[in-house]
Amino acid sequence: MTITLADHYGMCFGVRDALRKTHDTAAAGPTTVLGELVHNPIVQQHLSTLGVQRAHLDAVGSSETSRVVITAHGAADRDRQAWRTAGYQVTDTTCPLVKKAHHALAQITAQGCQAIVIGQPGHVEVRGLCGDFPQAVVVEDEAALQDLPWAAHYGVVSQTTQPIAKVLDLVRKLEQLHPDAKVTFRDTVCQPTKDRQVAMDRLCQENDVIIVIGGRNSNNTRQLSETARRAGLDVHQIETAAELQPAWFSPGCRTGVTAGTSTLDETVQAVMARLKQIAAASRASSPIHRLAPVIQQAIAAFA
Ligand code: SF4
Repeated sequence: MTITLADHYGMCFGVRDALRKTHDTAAAGPTTVLGELVHNPIVQQHLSTLGVQRAHLDAVGSSETSRVVITAHGAADRDRQAWRTAGYQVTDTTCPLVKKAHHALAQITAQGCQAIVIGQPGHVEVRGLCGDFPQAVVVEDEAALQDLPWAAHYGVVSQTTQPIAKVLDLVRKLEQLHPDAKVTFRDTVCQPTKDRQVAMDRLCQENDVIIVIGGRNSNNTRQLSETARRAGLDVHQIETAAELQPAWFSPGCRTGVTAGTSTLDETVQAVMARLKQIAAASRASSPIHRLAPVIQQAIAAFA
């Protein structure tokens, strides 16, 4: 059994910065995060031990602490402002690459385009993007393209964690569906997501089993799993090393490992260590390995 870690995996700079800023805010006094800081249960648990509370971004005024944190996924300006107006001290950990997507959406809306956001309807980042531009339509798949209102000019952005291949495919299909309309596309898929997807494609070409580490409600983690599933591989998405099962790995199987952008380095290391244990146990129980002492004795007898 071989074990290969992807070239690009795990926590991105946006999540790292959000965690650091939240730690600093919590060190200054009681703090409430408006939503899930990152979609990772281990991080959530860690924040709870620091006394960090949670409230809904939409429920302005519901925080019991005067310090509140906006997550790396961002928020609509009107929500950010509403919390400030209500007297809260707001720490904004919105990732700069999410801000870039907000900026692109503002620009295409200002150009008079029918704005389209390719992404997962209801996801916190998508809600934030559309919050200030209610005329934007969220498109998750090809079927949703059919329901678009007619427009002479469409302007397209995407959720930062969508696979770029899927986004480009939907833009192409939009152009085919409306050949007379102008389509302006602004690529807002973030570089860490692109890097992890490219590394994942490579991992899929060179392995039989793929382990994806990350929160079950993390969009980019789910997208990584989907990529491996589409490639026809055995995929197991896990949150901790304890979930690994030796039965998933046949002797000699090639195992690729990756992790979503909200996964801690410690979790990846624990998974790698457990995989090495499973590989060692599988080697020790193989018939060849059990016969090795007998073969060595036979060779010694002839020597
Ligand atoms: S996944 Fe991309 S957009 Fe989201 S926090 Fe990380 S770097 Fe920023």
